[in-house]
Amino acid sequence: SPVPDYLHQILDECGGDNSGETADYIPELAAADPEVLGICISTVDGVRYEAGDAETEVSIQSISKPFAYALAIAQHGLEHVLDRVGVEPSGEAFNELSLERDSGRPLNPMINAGALTTHALIGDTGASADERFELVRQGMSAFAGRELQVDEKVYDSELRTAYRNEAIANMLRSYDVIGQEPHDVVAGYTRQCSLLVTARDLAAMAATFANGGVQPITGERVIERDVVRQVLSVMMTCGMYDAAGDWMSTIGFPAKSGVSGGILGVLPGQVGIATVSPRLDAHGNSVRGVRLCSRMSRDMGMHIMEAP
Ligand code: GLN
Repeated sequence: SPVPDYLHQILDECGGDNSGETADYIPELAAADPEVLGICISTVDGVRYEAGDAETEVSIQSISKPFAYALAIAQHGLEHVLDRVGVEPSGEAFNELSLERDSGRPLNPMINAGALTTHALIGDTGASADERFELVRQGMSAFAGRELQVDEKVYDSELRTAYRNEAIANMLRSYDVIGQEPHDVVAGYTRQCSLLVTARDLAAMAATFANGGVQPITGERVIERDVVRQVLSVMMTCGMYDAAGDWMSTIGFPAKSGVSGGILGVLPGQVGIATVSPRLDAHGNSVRGVRLCSRMSRDMGMHIMEAP
């Protein structure tokens, strides 16, 4: 197959871009190796192509958000979740302190306000932070097709400096969007963000979405088809934060980024795509990851609005 050669070639070409910085507001992420560069593509029948550091683990960070959203909908049904978290792009940074004007809901589940809320929805209302996190870990592991574990250093490092997320959670509690102790929700959400994944894992998780909710390798139905449709729609409009419109018009497939440098993309019915490279642009998206995805989209006609 010519695919691995192609992947090596675009890694060489996009790997030369040294612009951007590792995330600096989480001390442990600031110390990440900025040169890590990996790519993996997984088809819906589980065929995998990869190049570079596809087996280097990074914390999943915000790429966990679509999965937590999926798990919350699976548990409560869409209507219940929509009552608490909206689906409108915010056009703001991921850590903005904001709620929808009339409804008082977080605007969408891909910004931190919405993600803290979907995290709090998982498990029983009275569940402890540990119990809630364990459900999230198991759910996300089913997408990856292997048991995911936490990077305790990243977790400690982010939680110790989570002033912004504590503020958001306190805002959510004061408006009764969440019922739990704000700090417990921040702790559980931060653990969720600290789960370690490789580009290979992210591609498998993306391929599970691309495959309508069935994990291509294990064959397990992880999530219902209609939930996948909901999650991918919100990813498409909100997944790249305040760069979502630029991303969608130029690259053209639903995607989610995280501040550790991962990008996960989904071509429904076809492939899951993952890139890992820690240098970030001003929106918090991976510089080389965006370049790689834009190359692939152009070379392989991946824009979903393009007529075949
Ligand atoms: N854990 C990070 C935070 O809550 C995730 C942000 C991101 O990846 N964009 O700030």
